[in-house]
Amino acid sequence: MKTLRETLADADARRVAVGHFNISELGALKGIFAAARELQLPLLIGVSEGEREFIGVRTAAAIIKSMREEYGYPIFLNADHTHSLEKAIEAAKAGFDEIIFDNSSLPLEEDIRNTKEAVAAIRAIDPSIVIEGEIGYIGANSEVMDAAPEHIALSTPEEAARFVAETGVDVLAPAVGNMHGLLKTMVAGTAHKELDIALIGKIKEAIAALPANAQGGGRWMTLHGGSGTEDREFTEAAKAGMTIIHVSSELRLAWRRGVEQGLREMPDEIAPYKILPPAIEGIRAIVADRLKLFNGLE
Ligand SMILES: [Zn+2]
Repeated sequence: MKTLRETLADADARRVAVGHFNISELGALKGIFAAARELQLPLLIGVSEGEREFIGVRTAAAIIKSMREEYGYPIFLNADHTHSLEKAIEAAKAGFDEIIFDNSSLPLEEDIRNTKEAVAAIRAIDPSIVIEGEIGYIGANSEVMDAAPEHIALSTPEEAARFVAETGVDVLAPAVGNMHGLLKTMVAGTAHKELDIALIGKIKEAIAALPANAQGGGRWMTLHGGSGTEDREFTEAAKAGMTIIHVSSELRLAWRRGVEQGLREMPDEIAPYKILPPAIEGIRAIVADRLKLFNGLE
C-alpha cells in the first residue's frame, strides 16, 4: 500500500487530485469512505482544530489508522488549518499523516517565518508527515454566508515559489479564486465559485521549477474551499496542478439536510444509527460525484 507521500506523487504525475473531506463524527466518515471504496480511490480525511477537539485528537488518528490497517486501504488523516505550533505538535505526536500549518492571516514575512519553524518542529517528531503551508486569504469558515468575506486576494507565482523555497513545506495552498464556505446563492445553485485556472498553472510551474525538499516534496498544491465550484473547474484545477482538493461545507449541508430528513421520516425513532442513514447517503453521493470529477472519470 502506498504512503500518503507516494499517493500524492502518483496523483501529481497523472494530474488528478486526491479528495480531502472533513468530518465531525463517524456518520460522515462512513459515507465518505463508502464513496472512495466504490471508486477504489485514495482518501484524505480532514479535521479542523474544532473538528478534532470534538472527536478527540488522538481518537481521530487512531480511527483512521485502524481503518487503514483493517481494510488495507490508502486512507489518511490531515490536521486541517492548524493555527498554532502547539496544536501542530499535538497532531504530529498523535500520528497524523498530514498537517496544514496555517498562518496565512499574517503578513507573508511572518507567515514564512512561523511556517518554517513549524516545519522544523514537525519534522523533528516524524519526518514522514506531509506538511502544507498556506498563503493568501480565502476566508476562514466552512459556513453558509450572505456575502463573500472581504480582502480575498489572489496569490502570485513569485510569492508562491518564495514561500515554498523558504519554508520547506511539501504542499502549498494558494489563493486562486477559491473561498472557504458557501454563499446562499451557491446553495440555491444560482452562483458558482470562479477559479483562475491559468493562475493555478502558473503557480504550479513556478514551484515545480524549485528543487525538491529533503523529503522529496515541495511541488504539490491543495485547492481549499472546493464546495460550490463548477463541475468542470474541479477537473481543470486537477489538470492544472492541484494535487489535493478540499470539500467540507457541501458535506456539512448534506449532513444537516439528511439529519432533518431522518427526523422527519422517523418522528418516534431514538436510535441515532437509524436516523442518520439519509445524512450518510447524502454525503456518500456528493463525495462520489466529486471524486469522479477530481479524477476525470465520466
Ligand atoms: Zn481550507
